[in-house]
Amino acid sequence: VNRPVETDVLIIGAGSGGKPLAGELGRAGIPTLVVEQALVGGECPYVACIPSKSMLVQGRHHVLAGPHTDAQHRAAWTQAVDVRDRTVRHRDDTHAAQVLTSDGAGLLRGRAQVQPDRSVRVGDTTIRWRRALVIATGSAVAIPSLDGLDTVPYWTSEDALSTDERPDRLLIMGGGPIGCELAQVYASFGSRVTLVQSGPQLLSREPAWLAAALAVSLGELGIDVRTSATAASVRASADGVALEVPGVGTLHADRLLVATGKTPRTAGLGLEHLDLATEGPLAVDERLRVRTTSGHVLPDVFAIGDVTAIAAYTHTANYHARTVAAHLLGSGLDADHTGIPRVVYTDPAVLCVGLTADQAAEGGIDAVTARFDARETSRSAVERTAQRTWGSPEAQRPGAVELVADRATGILIGASAIGPEADSWAAELALAVRARMRVHDLAQQLHAFPSWTEAIHPPARELAEKIGP
Ligand SMILES: Cc1cc2nc3c(=O)[nH]c(=O)nc-3n(C[C@H](O)[C@H](O)[C@H](O)COP(=O)(O)OP(=O)(O)OC[C@H]3O[C@@H](n4cnc5c(N)ncnc54)[C@H](O)[C@@H]3O)c2cc1C
Repeated sequence: VNRPVETDVLIIGAGSGGKPLAGELGRAGIPTLVVEQALVGGECPYVACIPSKSMLVQGRHHVLAGPHTDAQHRAAWTQAVDVRDRTVRHRDDTHAAQVLTSDGAGLLRGRAQVQPDRSVRVGDTTIRWRRALVIATGSAVAIPSLDGLDTVPYWTSEDALSTDERPDRLLIMGGGPIGCELAQVYASFGSRVTLVQSGPQLLSREPAWLAAALAVSLGELGIDVRTSATAASVRASADGVALEVPGVGTLHADRLLVATGKTPRTAGLGLEHLDLATEGPLAVDERLRVRTTSGHVLPDVFAIGDVTAIAAYTHTANYHARTVAAHLLGSGLDADHTGIPRVVYTDPAVLCVGLTADQAAEGGIDAVTARFDARETSRSAVERTAQRTWGSPEAQRPGAVELVADRATGILIGASAIGPEADSWAAELALAVRARMRVHDLAQQLHAFPSWTEAIHPPARELAEKIGP
């Protein structure tokens, strides 16, 4: 019988949460073992964030150099795929694994499962944790129940970001961040893309005006955006797939991409032996310790990243890793989920943070809002004049900022921005929401002239005036 392996901290999953946590604990000299069943680094560097940004950036260069013939689109696509694959190190995690072990953490490859005696099994190895078990298993693609879907081949985002195929006609189900980004990627390289969204707008939880502006931009790229369009069935056709959408008709494509969301990976892990949820997200307290199904907190079991379903982004998983490390290293900090930026890297890009006006109203907050059209900034005038001369197709790209403040306190509780590179310049708004800044103070901030950030000043000032001193 193999003797069980013992470690202070056992982490299941070496992704955006588990890997930096293992590294930080390893560097601090805490015996730490991380179990990974697939790639060290998780989905982000290989099949999610990084390849999608690589293709978006390249697609943008390609579009600006256009217009193109189909042959030119295809040649550019082949080149872009090569750059993408080099950027993601051809999905080889050797370097990531080396970084992890040189930080002092142990790595065990395999699939971890919690056992009835509170140990964890990986193949023939039994592991016991002395101080903490950290569940950092991420999320899996959620496949909707759609009549016929099990009979047709379809892509997930992972396929769409690993393939070298560029379909002539691509049908995307799901108008969330991933569906919108991948629609832009493929349309940039000449695919005819139809984006089908069941709800009344893209980005269902963000403000309707912003989603409408994004839909206009995607439309200008040639994407056929269909909202309030719920697929009823799908079947194989002679040349691909046919999606039946009541009220719209039959949509034909060479490929179908399912991008309808992700689901926390809690099933099949043996979590029932810890009295934890085996479906849906793991509930956590402010130190990211898990709550059992009966509601009490396990002092030595933590959950971080997508498996918690709290703002499923790499920056959240990184933050969770820092929070658990601080707890285990003694300088504990409570997790504060205020001000996590929600970004879509389309062009124009989207950055939203905190509450939308609708969410504030639902929460019973008396909120005031102000919106400003970024095309009124000096930067926009400079860009538009240049664009007209250089013939680039983006002169009409929208840009706008909306701020939401609590009337009672004047505190900025939410913000939404869309515009060129809004993912970067609107980050100031995430800081302001997280710092619980009053709009009066935000209105006193100096913004570099002539930068896009100047779009923040007018609505901040308008809100300060509306609210009064
Ligand atoms: C197409 C796409 C684009 C995205 N773009 C962005 C972006 O631009 N910016 C951003 O911030 N976020 C983006 N995300 C989200 C981001 O990828 C996730 O939020 C992030 O990876 C979550 O980190 P995690 O550690 O929770 O999970 P992961 O990074 O997925 O890591 C979980 C790890 O656990 C392992 N695992 C699971 N179960 C077991 C088990 N039983 N035993 C052993 N190992 C196990 C998995 O193999 C995996 O490696 C994107 C996601 C997708 C799909």
